[in-house]
Amino acid sequence: MSARVYLDHNATSPLRPEARRAMEPYFGEAFGNAESLHFHGQQAKAGLERARRTCAGVLGCDPREVVFTSGGTESLNLALRGIAWARRLTGKGMRIVLSGLEHAAVRETARSLEDQGFDLVVVQPLADGRIDPARFASALDDWTAAAALMYANNETGVIQPVSEALEACRHLRIPLVVDAVQAPGRLPLNFGPHGPAALALSAHKFEGPKGAGLLRLKAGTLYQSHASGGGHEGGARAGTHNLAGIAGLAEALRLAEAEREAETARQGALRAEFEAQLKAAVPGLAIHGEAAPRLCNTVYVSIPGQASETLVNALDLEGISVSSGAACSEGTHTESFVLRAMAADDAQVRSAVRFSMGRSTSADDLRRAVECLKQKVS
Ligand code: PLP
Repeated sequence: MSARVYLDHNATSPLRPEARRAMEPYFGEAFGNAESLHFHGQQAKAGLERARRTCAGVLGCDPREVVFTSGGTESLNLALRGIAWARRLTGKGMRIVLSGLEHAAVRETARSLEDQGFDLVVVQPLADGRIDPARFASALDDWTAAAALMYANNETGVIQPVSEALEACRHLRIPLVVDAVQAPGRLPLNFGPHGPAALALSAHKFEGPKGAGLLRLKAGTLYQSHASGGGHEGGARAGTHNLAGIAGLAEALRLAEAEREAETARQGALRAEFEAQLKAAVPGLAIHGEAAPRLCNTVYVSIPGQASETLVNALDLEGISVSSGAACSEGTHTESFVLRAMAADDAQVRSAVRFSMGRSTSADDLRRAVECLKQKVS
């Protein structure tokens, strides 16, 4: 049996050796608490601030705007709650505008804010998986406390019009929360001086460790922390720093950005070849978001007549790890709300499979996946 093929990088990615090496000192001699005044504390603090500068360099922001968290979900919770409540309490509005494509980390946070009296406006995507920037802009008004638009969707890979949304928000002075969790190594992260009020990243999506994330909180953004405790991270996120995780995150982010151009070109070429092979091998196959700009690594297909779980299991038995794309909790498959929002039909929703590549993906891996699907459907 040949080695397994991993095509589920949008779910998580393996820890790269350079990130692991950057983490190692913090499991050993550099164990100090970055808040302590003595030698061990200062050693940890130096590592923390080095990591912060590295991340700020990639994001093109001031290091003081970098808040380390435990991952994408925490970053997005802190951002949306912290900004919405700070704006509400200063009389700046109680409406939250978000796209109908947002990850549960944003969607559920917005729903819980709705329970607390906020009013939600959800902007649904066009059939190609993209949010219409004009529709997003027209949902904003001067009672909007915060807006949220993801940079790229985790299921379809469709890239969203964040620059246009930023421009519209800037005119009305509305803070935009950007879920950029799927972007590192695939899209530029430096938005220049007019970047989003909040931008969230998660290390395990770009070959860093699990349990480490980042929130870029732009200077001047009204924000109220929702985690009580010590005054860590400028008061934005209380709790002793996960130094090893932070060091691994910074190194993985630096490398993802340094390799971005070469990797996006390589994976883009692989994706084009893979899609051509899939279409030739599987009659009736649909590629979701095909007409829209998409991440170089993501291919989300439906194969009418097949069930998602059956396809995922069949590929798994052949040594290929893929996903149905939609959320799974405790092994239970739920249908994709993203495909529903894109007005996909029932047969397509039930038969969706997502392939997501990473740095280790080769043309051979993708050929194996095509061969397996071909056998399954014939
Ligand atoms: N946002 C997007 C687009 C994601 O794909 C994910 C993870 O699946 C998250 C947020 C949550 O990130 P984390 O797993 O670090 O909590």
